[in-house]
Amino acid sequence: MHEMGLAANVIDMVRAELEKRNIDKSRLTAVKITVGKMMQIVPDSLKFGLEIASRAAGMHNAEFVIKEAPLKVKCGGCGREECMQRGAGGEDFSMACKKCGANNPQITGGREFTIDSIDVAD
Ligand SMILES: [Zn+2]
Repeated sequence: MHEMGLAANVIDMVRAELEKRNIDKSRLTAVKITVGKMMQIVPDSLKFGLEIASRAAGMHNAEFVIKEAPLKVKCGGCGREECMQRGAGGEDFSMACKKCGANNPQITGGREFTIDSIDVAD
């Protein structure tokens, strides 16, 4: 389960940021994170891991909000951009362009793993 390892990394980054700004860990209230669909992270598992890791690190009031960024591809042929959605039946994406038929997609979104904000109480 790689979410636990990621959670530990996030907590390390948050802790470093708090230390840099000289903010006590207990004042941390919320951390917002964006995770791309391509990262194959289960948001609930990541959230669970973050809660455990944050409590262990002394961040007792922290909440974690995880936003998923959609997979976005741009056609290498005509430049058409779209958000890919997995079909309802769970079939794989068709990567060929619906407009020009080129099968040369470039991934432009969905690989994000970013800490968007760190909120602290006054
Ligand atoms: Zn195209």
